[in-house]
Amino acid sequence: MAEETTKKCAHPACICTVPKDKKYCSQYCEDAGKSMEISCNCGHSGCSVNG
Ligand SMILES: [Zn+2]
Ligand SMILES: [Zn+2]
Repeated sequence: MAEETTKKCAHPACICTVPKDKKYCSQYCEDAGKSMEISCNCGHSGCSVNG
């Protein structure tokens, strides 16, 4: 089990988990993380306001 090697995406509005050596779950979050986004559109299931 490798759950200890994951953490939450650095995007404030994103609930995805990412590998310990990565900061964002996706390119979307990497771009959005530079600005103050209030919602996440990374597209991962369970993580967007659109469901
Ligand atoms: Zn997300
Ligand atoms: Zn993310």
